[in-house]
Amino acid sequence: MASGGGNNRNGTHRNSLKGTTTTSTVSTDKPLSVNSNPSKPAFKNKSSPLTGASSGLRKSSPGSLGGGAAKDDAGVPGRVRVAVRLRPRNAEESVADADFADCVELQPELKRLKLRKNNWDTDTYEFDEVLTEFASQKRVYEVVAKPVVEGVLDGYNGTIMAYGQTGTGKTYTLGRLGEEDTANRGIMVRAMEDILAEVSPEIDSVLVSYLQLYMESLQDLLDPTNDNISIVEEPKSGDVSLPGATLVEIRDQQSFLELLRLGEAHRHAANTKLNTESSRSHALLMVHVKRTVKGREPAHSSDNGNSTSMARSLRPPLVRKGKLVVVDLAGSERIDKSGSDGHTREEAKSINLSLSALGKCINALAENSAHVPVRDSKLTRLLRDSFGGTARTSLVITVGPSPRHRGETASTIMFGQRAMKVENMLKLKEEFDYKSLARRLDIQLDKLIMEHERKQKAFEVEIERMTAEAQNRISEAERNYADAVEKERLKYQKDYMESIKKLEEKWMMNQQNQGNERKEQMVHIAEEVAEVKKLLSKETSLRKAAEEEVDNLKSQLAQLKMSEASANSEILKLRKMVEDEVCQKEKLEGEISMLQSQLLHLSFEADEVCYLCNLQVWHVGLQKILSLLEAEDADVRIHAVKVVANLAAEETNQQKIVEAGGLKSLLMLLGSSDDETIHRVAAGAIANLAMNEKNQELIMSQGGISLLSTTASHAKDPQTLRMVAGAIANLCGNDKLQTKLRGEGGIKALLEIVKCGHPDVLAQVARGIANFAKCESRASTQGSKTGRSLLIEDGALPWIVQNANSDASPIRRHNELALCHLAQHEVNAKDMISEGALWELVRISQDCPREDIRTLAHRTLASSPDFIAGLKRLRINY
Ligand code: ADP
Ligand code: MG
Repeated sequence: MASGGGNNRNGTHRNSLKGTTTTSTVSTDKPLSVNSNPSKPAFKNKSSPLTGASSGLRKSSPGSLGGGAAKDDAGVPGRVRVAVRLRPRNAEESVADADFADCVELQPELKRLKLRKNNWDTDTYEFDEVLTEFASQKRVYEVVAKPVVEGVLDGYNGTIMAYGQTGTGKTYTLGRLGEEDTANRGIMVRAMEDILAEVSPEIDSVLVSYLQLYMESLQDLLDPTNDNISIVEEPKSGDVSLPGATLVEIRDQQSFLELLRLGEAHRHAANTKLNTESSRSHALLMVHVKRTVKGREPAHSSDNGNSTSMARSLRPPLVRKGKLVVVDLAGSERIDKSGSDGHTREEAKSINLSLSALGKCINALAENSAHVPVRDSKLTRLLRDSFGGTARTSLVITVGPSPRHRGETASTIMFGQRAMKVENMLKLKEEFDYKSLARRLDIQLDKLIMEHERKQKAFEVEIERMTAEAQNRISEAERNYADAVEKERLKYQKDYMESIKKLEEKWMMNQQNQGNERKEQMVHIAEEVAEVKKLLSKETSLRKAAEEEVDNLKSQLAQLKMSEASANSEILKLRKMVEDEVCQKEKLEGEISMLQSQLLHLSFEADEVCYLCNLQVWHVGLQKILSLLEAEDADVRIHAVKVVANLAAEETNQQKIVEAGGLKSLLMLLGSSDDETIHRVAAGAIANLAMNEKNQELIMSQGGISLLSTTASHAKDPQTLRMVAGAIANLCGNDKLQTKLRGEGGIKALLEIVKCGHPDVLAQVARGIANFAKCESRASTQGSKTGRSLLIEDGALPWIVQNANSDASPIRRHNELALCHLAQHEVNAKDMISEGALWELVRISQDCPREDIRTLAHRTLASSPDFIAGLKRLRINY
């Protein structure tokens, strides 16, 4: 989808408003190499006369979407930058969702969005920018659109798209004219203001066309008779043009506003004629900006200083062309394929086509897929030269706060996530197993490394020990040898001396005796000499033996050295094994990421095929999983209960799970298992199932309260308590079950659970109490209940009062609500006054951020005789 430099040739330019045409200008096509990075245009310099204008447009802040792109995406041109914008609650939602929290929670400083799965679970997603319900239109423009507009002024193509469910603020974000209050101006108006501030009317041109795409037919919103415009693509450059579309030259902001108004009127008329709503069609504003760069010299001629002014004046002006496309996409909600909303099946398919083709292209681009199916729809063909390459694209996804549209909101968020690249995406639920597999492998690897280190250490110690022992033995042998040699030497010396002495004596005697004995003596001497010789040879053999001993020890030492070498090679082998493990792990991680990307693909495809889902197959699968809840192997049981809990988190599965006996099995698991993980996960699943009234009755009739309270009393993990409290809290919201729930100890169980003190657990307890108080109040108003509140009977009031001003907002909000409900009925007033609830009610009526709760507290205080008397007694002026 690269644009190859951002040239737009729209052929003949027609104009229905002002009758201007484009002037023919010699355009110098920029080679891509001049500046392949849109974030740092080579010849962009606001203060330089070369740009033609020195005033006006401020640079977008570094924190903005495109600014960020310049920094972190230098190597990833064309990365779609995605912002999410939350619409504030509207009047209807403020009333209808009064008791419910928003389905999303934003953390703009972390650029995160938390999507509530239910009362106790959220998924977290990161975006390039997170815009809260308080974000001004100015800020939205600056972070989403300004970098793109700057790129267009520098000669690049840019696209700004809004995607989201109908009614979430796409048109508000893009198309507001801001006539009543200029602060409300949307992206289109602000973009044109910035463009007009930068161009010079004498030499530059700004041409606009405005179109609607409905059922793959492209209509000209500036000329309603022109309702089947064809798209022309230049095969070589990939440029897209609409020769048939009206092009209006814009010279001032006023004429642009008129053009938008006219387009909107035509859109309305066209849609009435086609009997559809504008939410079904895509609106496309195309702005072609052509700027002449005055006096720009190619670098080589100005550098060497050889150019003459004559040559300069003959040089054709340099022209930069950029195209900005602003797309207000059709509502992302699924169109009923049955045709029940007045469309035939064929129409429904065609209405969806461009949007789902866009989704597929974004997927393919995000995954760097070799094939991007741009040709599948008109929208993607139109946006072909606005994606990738040197173009900048910003997507703003709009969501509403209502928990009733959670499904649509979730799918919008997933679209945004896919547009942000696969790596950035939060793992889907199914990926849990891959994650745990990776974790298991990590642990195994850690174990292997530890084991290897332990063995290596033991080896080293052993080798040290053997070396020391060998050394000892060698030195001992050397010592022995030296001793033996010394001893022999001394003995030999002594013997020798003695022999000499004897010989001398004998010689003396010989001298004396002379003569006849001489011969005999000679023989004797010869014998003596022979004896000495014998002694000498004995000495020599002893010495030999000692030498042999030394040799022996030496060879032992060599052997020891050899075994050390073999130990070293063993260590090397182990190291290799560890490396292989690491390699294997990397391979598995690769597989995991491949599977994840396949999952991604599948998740998008799943939208299309879920209609074809074979319910029976699903049912058989479910039966199998449920049967595994009773498996012998504890691991299998844990996995099965996790799978059931994941399924139970989806509202569409809940009925099937209950019908297949899943609820019964989960309750049974609470009673029969000792494993806390099983307790926690099963209680979570039960809590999910307990959102439905029919299931609440089933849970109660199967002894749910006592099972949940026992589970709570054994729990060590606060998350288990949170699940249990969540389940009971859901049961508390059932009008029909009030007495039974209290009778079976439901309220007492909640009051036991608060001892854990964990704020998430307390929030669930407070929710249960508020639910209970609300039902009770309703029953009292209808006359079906008389007497004091069962909450007060069971001793819940002190806790409610104590936590009505808790720092944790969910705990505070629910307890405030509970107090307001209790205060509705005069029978409760005395207890409430004596427990100090009156002070809290006064505070709520003045400080509570929720207007409806404030008003309720105020009304109650003003109308209850007991409270009025109490206020007087306490001298509170009210
Ligand atoms: P979409 O084009 O997505 O169908 P709209 O832009 O028509 O939605 O918005 C639906 C309603 O919500 C309009 O009345 C609009 O004024 C209002 N609205 C949308 N976004 C905001 C916002 N950020 N602040 C105040 N009102 C908004
Ligand atoms: Mg709209």
